[in-house]
Amino acid sequence: MEKDTIAAISTPIGEGAIAIVRLSGEDAIAISNKIFEGKDLEKVESHTIHYGKMIDTATNEMMEEVMVTVMRAPKTFTKEDVVEINCHGGLASVNRLLEHVLFHGARLAEPGEFTKRAFLNGRIDLSQAEAVMDLIRAKTDKAMNIALKQLDGKLSKLVHQLRQKLIETVAHVEVNIDYPEYDDVEEMSHQMLKEQTEEVYREVERLLSMAKQGKILREGIATAIIGRPNVGKSSLLNAFVQETKAIVTDIPGTTRDVIEEYVNVRGIPLRLVDTAGIRETEDIVERIGVERSRQALKESDLILLVLNYGEELTEEDRNLFKAVEGLEYIVIVNKTDLDQKLQLEEVKHLAGDQKVITTTLIEDKGMDALEDAIANTFFAGDLDSGDLTYVSNVRHIQLLQQTLKALEEAIDAMDADMPIDLVQIDVTRAWELLGEIVGDTMQDSLIDQLFSQFCLGK
Ligand code: GDP
Ligand code: ZN
Repeated sequence: MEKDTIAAISTPIGEGAIAIVRLSGEDAIAISNKIFEGKDLEKVESHTIHYGKMIDTATNEMMEEVMVTVMRAPKTFTKEDVVEINCHGGLASVNRLLEHVLFHGARLAEPGEFTKRAFLNGRIDLSQAEAVMDLIRAKTDKAMNIALKQLDGKLSKLVHQLRQKLIETVAHVEVNIDYPEYDDVEEMSHQMLKEQTEEVYREVERLLSMAKQGKILREGIATAIIGRPNVGKSSLLNAFVQETKAIVTDIPGTTRDVIEEYVNVRGIPLRLVDTAGIRETEDIVERIGVERSRQALKESDLILLVLNYGEELTEEDRNLFKAVEGLEYIVIVNKTDLDQKLQLEEVKHLAGDQKVITTTLIEDKGMDALEDAIANTFFAGDLDSGDLTYVSNVRHIQLLQQTLKALEEAIDAMDADMPIDLVQIDVTRAWELLGEIVGDTMQDSLIDQLFSQFCLGK
């Protein structure tokens, strides 16, 4: 087990009035004490906060007023001694603080190393560690709730239950194989194994069916706004931005990156993409042709195609319809305050199954209907069934898909009356795959790789 003391800046650099340098490890308190003028931190009670000054040990000068929080193992995030030094200050002062801490024996933490320690010390399991990462990146409350539930161990608990079911079955069958003198053993085991496996199969399937929604909440819906010049694309963007409630979360000790291109629609983050100038494209089709703009637009999850109610459809409008054919889009007929020139029937015909919404953005009308349409497109109704255990992590989704496949093979084998020990191989494989979600059967290298994706200071 790693015993050295790590340190990092754990607040967003350059943001906010307060910066935190966090230390974790055996010497966290001793190191902090060396540069702290105030109470003797070695003697203070755990989980208390202390005012004092940092001193530059080279010059003996006072550097900075600070608040120091001392938290002793094991009731800390990493299960090690943790010290958080809060200073108000810009980049320079927090960097200087970090330099001092490093000079006195701490090592600069690798990205995600605090969370990795929490995992290695058994404080949290892998899916929870990943939830920490998701929390940091969460763009809306709903995305945060998923991460919180995962952090809370909701997914872990479910996965553990499923694994338990599988292993019990395998064990049961094992006993029966070893003691075949009991009556009807073979039949019994087949039946039981099949029922249990099918039950787990359905449960994994259910989790996967929610995965798409989870992913959307986590990463946002990549959205492109397209339309001819002057139809109201910028006005639409502004309307979204104005309606946007506070994006993101404020959890102590986690980075908050507010990214401007995200807007919050009914708790769903829309990521307004601008790849290859898709947004504000005006003449994208003219410029690069229908086929190529299609290719570019394919990267979006959702396209908002804006038309002008006060003008007749043009060739350019029709080309836009061609460019988005087969993709997920919503037609927005804007400027309904003007006299109608647009051939609404033709628009509806061109749109086919896709929704057509009318707006008067200049009067802020129609946004509710548009937001409803977006929410319904991605979450058919049940967005608020708060009890769902969402799976939003790509790694989890892949593992669940593999699990499903292994279970399917097991069930097929049973249906084909294959010997039970062959069936067991597949079931055991499913059990192992589920274990990887919570980190029970993970190799070290994979663990390193996963944690290296975390932000510094987490
Ligand atoms: P873009 O070129 O597609 O981005 O269009 P803009 O959002 O810049 O809007 C072009 C013009 O149309 C601006 O003068 C807007 O104020 C105006 N506009 C936007 N929405 C409406 C609307 O609903 N009705 C009317 N009459 N004008 C609008
Ligand atoms: Zn514009």
